[in-house]
Amino acid sequence: MERIRLPEPISGGLLLSYRCTARCRHCMYACSPKWKEDWISEESLRKILTQLAGKIKPSPWGAENVSLNYGLHFTGGEPFLNFDLLRRAVEIASELKIPSTFVETNCYWCSEDNLTREKLKILKGKGLKGILISVNPFYLEYVPFERTERAIRISREVFGRNVMVYQAEYYVLFKKMGIKGRISVEDYMKATREKNLAKNVELFLMGRAAYELGEFYPRYPADYFFHEPCQPPFLRNWHNHFDNYGNFLPGYCG
Ligand code: SF4
Repeated sequence: MERIRLPEPISGGLLLSYRCTARCRHCMYACSPKWKEDWISEESLRKILTQLAGKIKPSPWGAENVSLNYGLHFTGGEPFLNFDLLRRAVEIASELKIPSTFVETNCYWCSEDNLTREKLKILKGKGLKGILISVNPFYLEYVPFERTERAIRISREVFGRNVMVYQAEYYVLFKKMGIKGRISVEDYMKATREKNLAKNVELFLMGRAAYELGEFYPRYPADYFFHEPCQPPFLRNWHNHFDNYGNFLPGYCG
């Protein structure tokens, strides 16, 4: 059998666990509150971060800045569910001089200004460079929009321009719509008359999405895909994920 060597990663995300406060229909790793609290151990954290140190490339704007497909991000699941571990991960990455680090969050924890500011400042103090804030109608089913707004406003105070809103178009739209609280995908679609949500939300048809968003896509038997090559995603060196069980998850394959 032909053996293929995986390329050295130049960027990626470290999953602290698959546990999440939400159960988004489009979640690429089917995260949810039902996952065990199998947080990555400090030993594994150090081992993986040490392996990545020296390989991860900084953002084109420099190691103090962030870009989606450069540097290293801390993710899950929801990493703020275990703030002490997240803080430790940032600390170790910083000791190892891993550039362009950021955290990805659904903002569930941003219930109040002072608490939000305090946590973000602690992470910044430990060496975190920025944040990625998730926004689309699937998150809106679980996270009150006020928390997302608070997270963005205070993150900009703390991290300046190192705040990525993914997807910013939905943030602008939800503001225009005056959304308050949470709203189901069905009610959102009724309110916007949006027919094909899957077309506008950037998502990967994997994980829970493949089961829950079937109505938005044509169906084919499995053998229709047999000629599709799996190799390119495996051989990609950017934006792969590394999980709490020591697995390497090639870019958008899972
Ligand atoms: S918030 Fe993120 S990790 Fe959690 S279920 Fe939604 S997409 Fe998955």
